[in-house]
This record gives sequence, C-alpha cells and structure tokens, in this order.
Amino acid sequence: MSKMAGFWDKQIDRADQLATEPSGAKELLTFYARLLRAQAQIYESFRSRNDWVPSGDLANDVTVVQSSMTGLLECVERYGPESLAEEARVVLAAEPTVVALELIEYWHNPSDMQFFPKAVLQPYALWLAESRTTPARRELAGGERTCPFCGGKPQVSFLQSKESGAESGNRDLVCATCLCSWEFRRVVCANCGEERPAKLGYFHSPEFAYVRIEACDTCKHYIKGIDLTRLGHAVPLVDEIYAAPLDLWAREHGYTKIELNLVGL
Ligand SMILES: [Zn+2]
Ligand SMILES: [Zn+2]
Repeated sequence: MSKMAGFWDKQIDRADQLATEPSGAKELLTFYARLLRAQAQIYESFRSRNDWVPSGDLANDVTVVQSSMTGLLECVERYGPESLAEEARVVLAAEPTVVALELIEYWHNPSDMQFFPKAVLQPYALWLAESRTTPARRELAGGERTCPFCGGKPQVSFLQSKESGAESGNRDLVCATCLCSWEFRRVVCANCGEERPAKLGYFHSPEFAYVRIEACDTCKHYIKGIDLTRLGHAVPLVDEIYAAPLDLWAREHGYTKIELNLVGL
C-alpha cells in the first residue's frame, strides 16, 4: 500500500471515530466519512490503471476523471443533504461534455462554492502529487500563501513539533485542492500576509481546546488551526469539520473563511 493510500484510511478512520461522538457535527461527519470513502475509490481507480499515467493537464485527463466519478455522485445522491443530492442528480443526467467543461473550468478558476468539481478533483490532484506529475496550465496566484505544488488555497492549518526548532517552522497549511501540506510562517495571515500581531487574533473554545480560529482583522478572513502538539492523533481535515461550531462563531463575528470545506462550512 502506498503512502497516499494510507492517507485516505487515516482520514476515514478519524471521521468514523468522531462521528460516533455526541457532537453538533455528527451528521456532517457521517456524511464526510462516506464522501471520503467515495474519494478514496476515485483515487484507487487512478492508481490501479496500468495503462494510464496522468498528463497533469486536466483537458487531457478529464475523460479518465469522469469515468471514475459515478460512485461519488451516487453516494451524494443517496446520502447527501437535499441540495447536494439534487445537484448530484443533475450531474448524473448531464451530457459528459458539459460535465468535462465544468471540471476544467473549476481547475482553472476554483471556487469553494462548487462542491462536485472540488470533491472529484481532490483525489485527482493528490494522485498528481503522488505520481510526481506537475499540474500543467494551472497558473494560479502563486506565492507562499498558495500551495507550492498546485496553487490551491489553504483549507486548514496545523501546528506540530519539529526537531530543528526553526522559528518559522512548525506551522503547516493543508491545500484545499491536492490535500498536501506546506510549511508556513507562524504569525502571518494565510490570506493576505498580514504580520502585525495586533491585527491577528486567535480564538479558542473550551469545547475544542486543540482547535483555534486564526483570524485577521486586516482582510477579515480566517482559517482554523489544529494543534497536533495538544492532540497528536487529530487529523486536520477531519477535525476541522468536527469543530464546525467554531465556524458559526467566526461568521457571527464578521470573518469569512479563506476556503469553505467540503461540507460547506
Ligand atoms: Zn495543492
Ligand atoms: Zn488577512
């Protein structure tokens, strides 16, 4: 089993575990666990194709991507919230050429409001990373605040102890597109680059002691941070959803999330 196949198992196990806990996010986690299984199947279908290597240019790869996505659509049609289930029916019934254009459009101009392209292209982008295929013709903003591999925005940040003790180290951002992570300076807004401590706020709730809202008063954006030094077995993408009540808090206080997660929070 490759390292990245282990990636999906880790997310799924954590989502299953958190979904059994009494919390406000129980339904979200149950759905997310199903979604992760469907994404893992897409990923597995890429990996098991002996006759195909991705080109990194989605316009060339889109047929294979589409041929792998039916399971995810059916899963959402069956178990998703009504608005997404309806969208799934529309995509399942749509002309393949129309769906292909939507996927390609998302790839070049991503939006966190578009659930299906994001859900389907996460395993594709992760497979590009795993197979060391550089994404082609995807010129996004660049710079340290976007993923150095694919140009995606950050979904969540996490803190972990690293040996060297480098001052700038130990905070990483997870890419919302390829799900890989990159190192990022600790006291900097992940959206606008603000560095003045007085403009950056960190908010905790006793309910989620290892999760914080990292908010910026300059651009009014926020991202959630998972502190792995306090809870080592947390899995950032999943625990980020578990701490859904913090998103409501942030929104009530006038902050916009840098990138909505797959359950729309
Ligand atoms: Zn990325
Ligand atoms: Zn900012």
